[in-house]
Order: sequence, then structure tokens, then C-alpha cells
Amino acid sequence: MSSHKPWVDLSSRYGANGEYAAWSVVQEDYYWDRIEPAYDAAKSLGSGSMGVGMTTFRLIEAEWVTRQVSEIREVNEWLQIEWVPDDADMPFSAIAAEAVRSCEKVCYDFGYKDRPKVLITLLARTANTPWAPGRHGFCMDKYPYEKVCIPSALTRDIADMDEVIRHEYAHVMNMNRSNGLCPIWLDEAAAMTAGGDLQRESLEKFASGEWPWVDPVTLSQGFQQNRESKDGREIVWRAYQQSAAIGEYLRLLQGLEGIGRLMDGYANNSLIVDLFIRLKGEEPTEEALNEVYDFGIEALFHRCLEQIKN
Ligand SMILES: [Zn+2]
Repeated sequence: MSSHKPWVDLSSRYGANGEYAAWSVVQEDYYWDRIEPAYDAAKSLGSGSMGVGMTTFRLIEAEWVTRQVSEIREVNEWLQIEWVPDDADMPFSAIAAEAVRSCEKVCYDFGYKDRPKVLITLLARTANTPWAPGRHGFCMDKYPYEKVCIPSALTRDIADMDEVIRHEYAHVMNMNRSNGLCPIWLDEAAAMTAGGDLQRESLEKFASGEWPWVDPVTLSQGFQQNRESKDGREIVWRAYQQSAAIGEYLRLLQGLEGIGRLMDGYANNSLIVDLFIRLKGEEPTEEALNEVYDFGIEALFHRCLEQIKN
């Protein structure tokens, strides 16, 4: 284990920017997936000024714990897998075959042609702490590749692993197709639909009004609730299920392939159209939805709830 670097060494390169800038040293290494120096710097700097980097600190911790005991293997030209042999319940060949199959299924279903570089990391079992953000799986937009982290325990059940990889790989696709412009409620709508995570009982709760059917802003905020508290977890779960219901509604209209074209809709505008969207202060989603489905966000939320009630 390396010793802590003095704070001054980390901040001096940013001159007078001081404490705020210092934390960006950590982020830069983290986004390049240079986990070792990121962890080193994070240990020196804590979670940054005002705790801005707390979530990143915890992510780095989990990815660092894993990196200490992992092996990274290349599966094909776009996929690498990082795994901890002792923590896996199936051999590498089976994990690799399953991961490729799950990602390719998403590409096929959503009509996705590109294959951006991806690292799928099976997080060490010791990294599965209650305070780890995204301990059930998350996707991070990094520079050398998109990084998908999932728990090693998923290798116990191939169907569970498939579901989680499809969900996370849909995030990889959304990020790349929409140039990162797709809001979280729609990102999760596509991912939940890719993973097949909608529960029928949820639809009944939305239909009866037992669960509130919230607007896009409230829905996006729902994902940010504190998952450590019971109330917070409930709101987060409802947010995922409302997004899943919206994804399902879009799937019924134009299939998963339609959702794929919706993601492309963010990034296929001319400069003039993009300029107009910005000048009008319009949500990019409004334009993308109209392009593919001929209605906007408000209509989507309204019609989806009507459909559930019927
Ligand atoms: Zn997700």
C-alpha cells in the first residue's frame, strides 16, 4: 500500500484554485480508471471540500478493493472483464460467454450498431458494503471504456447476471446514442425495459393511486433519495417502477427498437435545430420524443398513466 501524498502536492498544480480544484485530481484519475492513484489521492484529500466527492470516494473504494485482487481479461475487441476468481461461482469462460450474449441481446433488441469499449467489473465480495453506492450494479462513463460494475455474487445465478448486465449495458448504449443528454428518468426507463424489471403489482399501485404518478422533475429527484432510509428506499423503488412503466409504454408503441431511435434522436440534429432547442430553453427530450413518437414529455406521462388505468 502506498503512503498518502501531501495535500500540497496534489493542489499545487492547480495553483490558487486550492481545495476545490484539488479534488479534481482524484476525479481525473477515477474517470481514466486509474484506480490506484485515484484511491491514493482520495485518501489524502478525503471526500473533497464540503464532501462533494463522497459518492465518488465510496465508488473508488469499492473499485480499488476489487483491483487489489482482480484479473483483467480481454474477451473481444470491445469487451474486457475484470473478475476475482475466488469470488466467482462459475468459470471465466461461462461468465464471458454470458456477458457477451447479454450485451448483444440489448444491441439486437434496440437496433444498436456500435460497440463502444466496455469493461465489466465483477466487484469483489469484500467491496459489497452497505455504504457502497450502486452495490447492485452501476455504469460509469469513463474515458478508456465505459465501466459496468456488478457484484460477484451474481455469478450464482446466470439469469440474475443476465438481467443486471442487460440493464447496465442499456445505460452504456443510452449514454453513447444520446450523447449523455437523456435524463435519468428516461435512461432508467430504457434500462429497466432492457432488463425486464417492471413488476405487475407496481402498475396496479399506480393505477389505483396508492403510488403517486409524479412529473418528470420529481421522478428524476426520486432516484437521488437516500437509499439508507426506509422512506428513501421506497421512493427510489417507485421511481424505478414508474420509469419501467414508461419504458414499457414506449415498447408497446414502437418496440425496443423505437426506444433505440429515441436515443439517436438526441444526437441527430443539425446545428441549427440544436441551437433553436437551446434558445427556446427546450428539453432535448421534447424534440427527440416528437421526432420518434409525435408527442412530447407531458403527453407521454399522461398517456402512459391512462394506459395503465385502462
Ligand atoms: Zn439503472
